[in-house]
Amino acid sequence: MKIYRATIIKSVCHRVNRTILSNLKKSPYFQTFCSMSVVITIVMMLVIGNSFPNMALSRSLSQTPSSGGGIPGSSSRASAPNINGIHNQSSSATPVYSSQAASSILGGNISGRVGSSSKIVMINFDDGYKSQLIYAKPILDKYGFKASFFIVCGKVATQPYWMNWQDIAQLNKDGMDIESHTMTHAHLNKLSTNALTYEIGGSKQCFASHGFNTTILGYPLNLGSDKPSVVNLVAQYYNLGRSGTDPLMFLNCNGYAKDLQTDCSTYLANGKLTHANRYDIRSASFYHISNKHNFSPPEMFQVFLQIVNSQIPSNSNGKINAIPIIVYHNLTTSIQDYTPISHASSTTVDLFAQEMKYLHDNGFKVLLLNQFGFDPTNNVFYIKNVPSSANGNTTKAATLIRGTSP
Ligand SMILES: [Zn+2]
Repeated sequence: MKIYRATIIKSVCHRVNRTILSNLKKSPYFQTFCSMSVVITIVMMLVIGNSFPNMALSRSLSQTPSSGGGIPGSSSRASAPNINGIHNQSSSATPVYSSQAASSILGGNISGRVGSSSKIVMINFDDGYKSQLIYAKPILDKYGFKASFFIVCGKVATQPYWMNWQDIAQLNKDGMDIESHTMTHAHLNKLSTNALTYEIGGSKQCFASHGFNTTILGYPLNLGSDKPSVVNLVAQYYNLGRSGTDPLMFLNCNGYAKDLQTDCSTYLANGKLTHANRYDIRSASFYHISNKHNFSPPEMFQVFLQIVNSQIPSNSNGKINAIPIIVYHNLTTSIQDYTPISHASSTTVDLFAQEMKYLHDNGFKVLLLNQFGFDPTNNVFYIKNVPSSANGNTTKAATLIRGTSP
């Protein structure tokens, strides 16, 4: 644009000098005239060219790799990750971004500590794959990380690749959080009331019968959290619900560009469900092998860096205002090993190890999803069992008793 403007200005003055006003060239008024012309030209170019940078920006954002060779990524909506697969098949045309774009979003500072920022992450595992116990658990243990496991109660021990109740009890004994992922992994947005009650209330009872008090429901395939009939039933049985797909969960639910919320109320004044609320905690399903895509571990590691560091602007004051919640599914020892096991979606063990090492080496604190508390008076989330000085909602939630609510 600068070159374009300079060319125009130069051309105008050059022509003026050579032709009609050549006689005025030496006039004392000429310099003033030409200077005014330049100023007017610049002003006009600024007005006319106002849309050009936007067009250029739009183009650069849309010039992203195709799904064949690119990195799954986000729309402009809060840079929502969209690792297309089992948990977001319902979301259709989501743009992708490059690792370069991810780096620029973070100002290039994606590999190290950032000041005194509070860096938090929540790690979730869905579906109850045995591979989570075999491969992920030892890596979590190595760093002392705890995670939340959303398990499909009706599938426990029904196949060798699902965990059994002894496995789940061991996870729980070691400090892991056991939560419900329904009875059969059904699409909750398509069910009758009776079927919904079976999936939502029945799984609560199913886990209770095996000694687990589940307080959070994870929506299979992220479906149903936008339907009042589903959400109202979830609210009858659970304290919280987790769906997707966003890279960050904002404790005030006010960080979503296209969904202006002032708090985490479940419904808007017009009766519509909000984008984020206690029954719609936002998370990012995260894997690089699925029945739709096959992304290389280095590409996925860049996406991981982008997601876990996207909290930095929100938490730069030392308070926790936003938390990335990352959801893993199956794990495999080799990217070549992938075979579809009923909507399987996998992460390689090496990549998972690399990601956990990154969190450890860069000072991330890993929290369980059930460390989310919810203040129904002010409609905000808070974090249980962290110093109040680090809690983003200290002023509103300080009087709440933390660590005792379900
Ligand atoms: Zn699932």
